[in-house]
Amino acid sequence: MSHPHLENVVIVGTGCAGLTAAIYTARANLAPLVLEGSLPGGQLTTTSEVENFPGFPAGVDGFQLMQNLREQAAKFGTRFEQTQVHSVDFSSHPRKLICAERTILARTVIIATGASPRMTGVPGEQELYGGKGVTTCATCDGAFYRQMEVAVIGGGDSAAEEALFLTRFASKVHLVHRRDALRASKIMAERATSHPKIVPVWDSVPLEVVGVKEGSVSGLKIKHLKNGHESILPVKGIFVAIGHVPNTGPFAAALDVDENGYFKPVAGSQVKTKVPGVYVAGDCADHVYRQAITAAGMGCQAAIDAERWLAEHDG
Ligand code: NAP
Repeated sequence: MSHPHLENVVIVGTGCAGLTAAIYTARANLAPLVLEGSLPGGQLTTTSEVENFPGFPAGVDGFQLMQNLREQAAKFGTRFEQTQVHSVDFSSHPRKLICAERTILARTVIIATGASPRMTGVPGEQELYGGKGVTTCATCDGAFYRQMEVAVIGGGDSAAEEALFLTRFASKVHLVHRRDALRASKIMAERATSHPKIVPVWDSVPLEVVGVKEGSVSGLKIKHLKNGHESILPVKGIFVAIGHVPNTGPFAAALDVDENGYFKPVAGSQVKTKVPGVYVAGDCADHVYRQAITAAGMGCQAAIDAERWLAEHDG
C-alpha cells in the first residue's frame, strides 16, 4: 500500500525509457507516478516514420508509437503529472524531488530524462526540423534519402558514423565541418574521409537551411571560414551531428556523471546508480547506442530493479 504522500516509484521522463519503466512498474501494481517535462514523448515524437522498432513491419509514426506506450502505461494504473524537477535530495529516505509546485517523496526513482540534440541555431533549421529535411538521426531517417544528396554537420564520431551510415542510401554525403580535420577517432575519421560517397567540406559553417517557403529542405547555405566564400549545397536532407546534451542537470550533483554530463551507472549495471533505489535509463545514461529500443530496454531493467528493491525493503 502506498501512502498518499510517499510514492513507490517516481519516473522522470516520458520517452521510450520512462514509459517502458512505467508499463513494467504499473503491471507490478506499483502505481508509478510519471513526471513529464517540456517534450512529452521524448525525441521520437520529432521523427516521422520509425522503421526499426521491432514489431512494426510496416513502420510506425514516432508520435503514434509514443501515444501507444503512454496508453499502455496508463491502462495499468500509471499516473502522469506535468512538472519540471528543479533539484533533488537523495541524501536520505524517502528520496525528494523538488519541483516548481511541490516536493515529491519517493521510495524509488527512475530518471529517464533523455538527451537533447545540440542544434546549430541557423535560420530555417528549426522550421524544417522533423520530417521536413532537418534531422538528428541517420539511423531513423537515412532511408528516406535514397539517391539524394545530403549533408552531415559536425566533425566528431557521431558525424562520421552518421555520414558512413548515410552512404547506404544517399548518392552523395557532404560532411560539413568547421575545422580542417575531424575530431572523430582515427579509425572512424579515416573510414569517413576515404569513402567515395563522402565529400568533406572543411573549414565551413552552416549559415542557413534553404527551403522554408517550400516547406522542405532544398539546400544548405554554408560559409568558408578562411576565404569567406558563401555557397549552397544542393541537399534534400541535413543531418545535424554536433553532439547531444544529456538532460541530467537537476540530478548531476546527487549522482555520478561523466565528463560529458551523462549519468555513470555503477560497475556491472546499466541502470543502477550509487544511490540505492535510484536508477537511470535511456539516453541520459547512454551516448553510445541512443536507440528507442535500447532506451526501452534500459527502462525495463530499471523497473525490474526498482521492483526488486521495493520487495527487499518492504514497508
Ligand atoms: P563531439 O565529439 O562533441 O563532436 C561534436 C562535433 O560537432 C565537433 O566536431 C564540433 O566541432 C562540432 N560542433 C559543435 N558545436 C558546433 C556548432 N555549433 N557548429 C558546428 N559544429 C559544431 O560529439 P559526438 O560526435 O556526438 O560524440 C559524443 C561522444 O560520444 C564522444 O565521446 C564520441 O567519441 C562518442 N561517440 C562514439 C561513437 C563510437 O565510438 N562509435 C559514436 C558516436 C559518439 P569541433 O571539432 O570544432 O569542436
